[in-house]
Amino acid sequence: MAKVLLCPACKAVVPVEKGLRPSSFPFCGSRCRMADLGRWFGEEYKVPQPIGPDDHEAIEEVLAGQLAES
Ligand SMILES: [Zn+2]
Repeated sequence: MAKVLLCPACKAVVPVEKGLRPSSFPFCGSRCRMADLGRWFGEEYKVPQPIGPDDHEAIEEVLAGQLAES
């Protein structure tokens, strides 16, 4: 039986095994990854530490990559 987990955003089944996992892992797709990032920005999640400038930069890089893909 293939190893799977549930997408944290939509609970869809996401394959875990190498070669099967999507580039958006652990999310089922870029849409869910974006939705999750949006929730982070909305501070829906409780973040143990404040997000620093470096984190913002990293998130912006991810977002830029997503925009370039679509
Ligand atoms: Zn999903």
